[in-house]
Amino acid sequence: MPPKPADEAQIQAALSDPQRLAAVRDTGLLNTPTEESFDRLTRLAAKLTGAPVTFVSLVDAHRDFYKSAYGMGEPLRSTRELKGRTFCHYALASGEALILEDVTQLPVFRDVPTVGSLGVRAYAGIPLRTEDGEVLGSFCAVDFKPKQWTEQDIKVLVELAHSALREIRLRKALRDADALNQQLLAQLQKVDELNRALSELATTDALTGLRNRRAFDHSLQLELAIVDRRDAPLSLLMLDVDHFKRINDSLGHEAGDKVLLAIARLLSGCARVIDVVARVGGEEFAVILPNTDAQGALEVAERMRIAVAQANWLGHPTTISLGVATLQEKEDAGGLYARADAALYAAKAAGRNQVVLA
Ligand code: GH3
Ligand code: MG
Ligand code: MG
Repeated sequence: MPPKPADEAQIQAALSDPQRLAAVRDTGLLNTPTEESFDRLTRLAAKLTGAPVTFVSLVDAHRDFYKSAYGMGEPLRSTRELKGRTFCHYALASGEALILEDVTQLPVFRDVPTVGSLGVRAYAGIPLRTEDGEVLGSFCAVDFKPKQWTEQDIKVLVELAHSALREIRLRKALRDADALNQQLLAQLQKVDELNRALSELATTDALTGLRNRRAFDHSLQLELAIVDRRDAPLSLLMLDVDHFKRINDSLGHEAGDKVLLAIARLLSGCARVIDVVARVGGEEFAVILPNTDAQGALEVAERMRIAVAQANWLGHPTTISLGVATLQEKEDAGGLYARADAALYAAKAAGRNQVVLA
């Protein structure tokens, strides 16, 4: 006696159940290419049950999608999609295995379109039910003549249905892990960007965009370490704006800021790419000149002095004083800095707007 089939209302309710449909889509398998891990299961099912056609169906709202389709003829073999009522819908609605030795025994099954269109005579479908109880579709075997499904056949299909579900779960877990990874990567990138912005903030002088004192100290240490290995000369310029207080006093602090910015640009313009120009104090700047001896450093200093003296910002003449020191043997950063600074003060004492070599 064949089982009592689900009625139309039950089938419609199951087909369009939003939670079930969400679960089907969540498999990520709809419209995906065939995969050996699923094909192996349907091949095995055909071999063990003797059924000529076996398949894994995922039942979407308006079509059955076959993730694997063993033994199907064209065009089904290629499209792996079937619209209209199928036997899988009955297994879906009842949530039970549907085993039919001869579908012509009951009018309701006889009227399923695939009986006429494909010649289905025997059907065995095991629902693919998720851990949450949603039925995704079924693991099926079909014959074109009546077939007495043995107990062994059904056991095989149930086992293989479990394996198919495991594959489905595995794929979802892999996708979830991948998504998590992507999220993590995006977060790491953000942290990286923030870190870069922070370190830029920590090393850049806000007014002039030059390196600040901290970055200057770091650069000087770095350059000294390179000199140590390369035995190349290294010079340092210290410079201070002359009578800057007067500029502030007569034109205002904001105008003073503009002068500082203009001087920073001029200094950068006089320097090479490998030189390090920094603002080390209020109106004090320092320039590291790698691979530069005293003669070369004096030339750069003089060029900077003239460039500033010739510029006429805000109609107010501005000059700078410079101290030059060239690294001596066994000298450290502090020693070099102190000598350049002393030379700068010598330049101030000598009347400003000049360069003094330590
Ligand atoms: P000297 O020739 O001896 O260097 O004279 P000076 O007036 O430049 O030296 P002093 O150190 O007396 O004054 C430096 C002035 O620079 C005082 C300070 O208010 C001003 N100053 C420092 N930082 C800034 C800044 O960021 N913006 C402006 N506008 N002024 C600044
Ligand atoms: Mg000054
Ligand atoms: Mg000063």
